[in-house]
Amino acid sequence: MDDKVRELLYKIKKKASSAVDAASAAAKQMGQKTGETLETAKLNMKIFDLNTEIGVSYREIGRIVYETHQGKEAEESALENLLKEIDEKNAEIESLKARLAELKKTVACPVCKEDCAKTDAFCRKCGAKLEN
Ligand SMILES: [Zn+2]
Repeated sequence: MDDKVRELLYKIKKKASSAVDAASAAAKQMGQKTGETLETAKLNMKIFDLNTEIGVSYREIGRIVYETHQGKEAEESALENLLKEIDEKNAEIESLKARLAELKKTVACPVCKEDCAKTDAFCRKCGAKLEN
């Protein structure tokens, strides 16, 4: 990856992490369901980051392909690394999405009937132990 691409990626990441901070602050103000909202926001932001990085890799692949077309010697190993990185990032996105789906599942509290996340050990409203 060349320096300009790296620099761009760094800037985009910096912006994304300040967006996570903003999301955290907003979630804390909401008071309710904070844990779930915060983790969901973080997971979504991570997926956004990975997709951004994949987009940068796509561009880099395009550049290599075009330069090869122009007669420059093919950067085969760089190309292979980029493809491998994309595969790994896509796999990570899939596991993050699975985690998000898990967070969306709810279970009713046996005592107060509040909808709680399946990942919670205790009811967020009355504190009763949840049977997951
Ligand atoms: Zn409850």
